[in-house]
Amino acid sequence: ATPTAVMVATGKGASQGVLIKGGSALEKAHKVKTVVFDKTGTLTVGKPVVVSMKVFSPMPIQEFCDIAEAVEANSEHPIAKAVVQHAKKLRQMNSPNLGHIAEVQDFEVHPGYGVSGKVSQKVVLVGNKRLMVARKVPISSEVEDYMSESEQLAHTCVLVAINGMVSGGFAVTDPVKPEAERVISFLKSMNIMSIMVTGDNWATANAVAKEVGITMVIAETDPLGKADKIKDLQSKGMAVAMVGDGINDSPALAAADVGMAIGAGTDVAIEAADIVLMKSNLEDVVTAIDLSRKTLARIR
Ligand code: ADP
Ligand code: MG
Repeated sequence: ATPTAVMVATGKGASQGVLIKGGSALEKAHKVKTVVFDKTGTLTVGKPVVVSMKVFSPMPIQEFCDIAEAVEANSEHPIAKAVVQHAKKLRQMNSPNLGHIAEVQDFEVHPGYGVSGKVSQKVVLVGNKRLMVARKVPISSEVEDYMSESEQLAHTCVLVAINGMVSGGFAVTDPVKPEAERVISFLKSMNIMSIMVTGDNWATANAVAKEVGITMVIAETDPLGKADKIKDLQSKGMAVAMVGDGINDSPALAAADVGMAIGAGTDVAIEAADIVLMKSNLEDVVTAIDLSRKTLARIR
């Protein structure tokens, strides 16, 4: 496209809340045959809520909840926000006068797995089963049962390990965006295939995919695995777009021919992307591709 055509299209995009960083993304978007979607915060609203909590260790529920909250308060992940919200509510009901959150040392984010830190000398892990397995935390059959019960309901299970033992967990649910199914089916009508990649477990991932009409799912992958999937598709000669919102999506956003970040997402994702969907509405995936198709058709 000519510089003028690119400028016009970029301006038009911006006026619709689709920020296109540079001409190259705009030129590539019309060739896209596959769109890879992240799940949490991209296909789903990204505002999960805790629907159940279970404590396995002999400790007061409030203490368990406070420890999980303290660690998660340092995380930007939507699941972390759900846990913090839940803990706050519980504390307000039980002990409205205790407003403080415990201090956390050595806080670390493990993208695609969870978070960790030290709370009053205790080593705390909050995340999925893969995080527990990686840290050699045993998973009892009681924990397994709680997890599979949650996952069958399309809930995501978060485990909390304290000093190497799973002390409890939370089940969270995150509804899909109202436009998700419509957008997937519209892309299909444009001859564009949709794929879901997620760090979440297979059972929850499949349940969400079914809801939005996606048949190709890749679950339980870490951030580099997401990028590998993009490269895999590209090696078959496909132009691939990636839509994501999290730190965990940034390698894939950078690897894709066209990386699209959800505007409400994290700064790292927005930086890694070529296009930012300011309204966080999935319909703008179509807007962006459409804009590119029209811009390139006009100059031919
Ligand atoms: P998605 O690919 O669906 O956006 P992520 O890669 O962000 O998901 O996270 C994958 C999984 O890692 C989550 O489903 C959750 O089990 C776990 N996880 C990541 N961050 C956190 C956190 N802060 N607290 C609890 N669990 C987390
Ligand atoms: Mg996400």
